[in-house]
Amino acid sequence: GLADRLQDTLQKIRGKGKVTEADVKEMMREVRLALLEADVNFKVVKQFINKVKERAVGQEVMKSLTPGQQVIKVVNEELTALMGGEQSKIAVSSRPPTVIMMAGLQGAGKTTTVGKLANHLRKNHNRKPLLVAADIYRPAAINQLETLGKQLSMPVFSMGDQVSPVEIASKAIEKAKEEHLDYVIIDTAGRLHIDEDLMQELKDVKEAVTPDEIFLVVDSMTGQDAVNVAESFNDALDITGVVLTKLDGDTRGGAALSIKAVTDKPIKFAGMGEKLDALEPFHPERMASRILGMGDVLTLIEKAQTSVDEDKAKELEKKMRTMSFTFDDFLDQLGQVRSMGPLDELMDMIPGMNKKAMKNVSVDEKQIGRVEAIIQSMTTREKEEPDIINASRKKRIAVGSGTTVQDVNRLLKQFDEMKKMMKQMTNMSKGGKKKGKGM
Ligand code: GDP
Ligand code: MG
Repeated sequence: GLADRLQDTLQKIRGKGKVTEADVKEMMREVRLALLEADVNFKVVKQFINKVKERAVGQEVMKSLTPGQQVIKVVNEELTALMGGEQSKIAVSSRPPTVIMMAGLQGAGKTTTVGKLANHLRKNHNRKPLLVAADIYRPAAINQLETLGKQLSMPVFSMGDQVSPVEIASKAIEKAKEEHLDYVIIDTAGRLHIDEDLMQELKDVKEAVTPDEIFLVVDSMTGQDAVNVAESFNDALDITGVVLTKLDGDTRGGAALSIKAVTDKPIKFAGMGEKLDALEPFHPERMASRILGMGDVLTLIEKAQTSVDEDKAKELEKKMRTMSFTFDDFLDQLGQVRSMGPLDELMDMIPGMNKKAMKNVSVDEKQIGRVEAIIQSMTTREKEEPDIINASRKKRIAVGSGTTVQDVNRLLKQFDEMKKMMKQMTNMSKGGKKKGKGM
């Protein structure tokens, strides 16, 4: 995947202060190959690469990132933008029912998606959908939808295969109004290839029922073909969104990357399997991370960047060097770690992090809360000179923080050990620098 390709290049450009043109070029060569391999439209690839280059070259590298990470960050942001940026919501008509029409080639997953979407609307939006069988060319299609309706215990509207799709769709809407159902989801016929008859039929249905959404259902496994299909359907029907199916089997993400760029229509949902609960709202940023294949390390980069105040970090470093690190600084640090989010979640984001191996390093939020309370119960002098904390002070601090004297003792010991460790570290770095600067 893209991650492997980038890994080597990342190693090479570690530890520089500025992202140079050569760095970006080298990384972009890998990105370009990976995207082409993923079957992304070549025009889209070209535009994408140029945009990333333009943005990344000459950028100051943020202190919390390496130049490689910085380029990855830009790649990720541009990938996300390419897929539409924000997650796109489903329409809600002010005059119910909201009408959704499906379109797409045979086998793309339309009928299955009707069931999944109905399930999603009921489960997550508390809606009452009506499923409409308007694929009259394959008798099995009507049965298929009726079976899905039974599984979901949801009403299915059908009039057999002797009535036109236009009439079926129109009658279905009347029925939904009568029964106070608030969504109508129309299944339609597909062909193996795009043809005029199919497009005309879909246009007729569109004209008759003026849908609030026209979802083009596309099989993501078909790569570049998916893009051509999307272009044709969009030209004929002016679709409102795309449902990408079979993403569970597609590891490359090529279709997802090109479709929005080519049609300028958002991908609204992703099909992740055959089951009725395997439909997810499409999140461009999640898909981008998936394509980059770097775990959620990207999220980690973002979080690190927004929460760690760089000046504070510098100040802290200086304090460590001069050994004037106090409990106040300690508290400050805790706050910063916390603002990055729940610690367990942070652990999850680090790729290759073995959860079992991490078992001994239990990160207990409650524990941190206790530590904070203890420090806050100290006087200023106590925070700066912990050595003065005798038995009676310990008792007072424990009462003030709602903890025990043992808790206070434990923290004092930890702090002491931390200071010792810092001393060792600073001694080591002093030793290392001796030659260059002299002390
Ligand atoms: P239609 O001809 O467009 O109505 O397509 P169907 O809904 O009948 O689906 C065709 C096949 O694709 C069926 O076997 C579905 O189970 C399967 N399918 C649909 N969506 C997905 C998906 O998201 N993932 C997987 N793995 N299979 C899917
Ligand atoms: Mg079907």
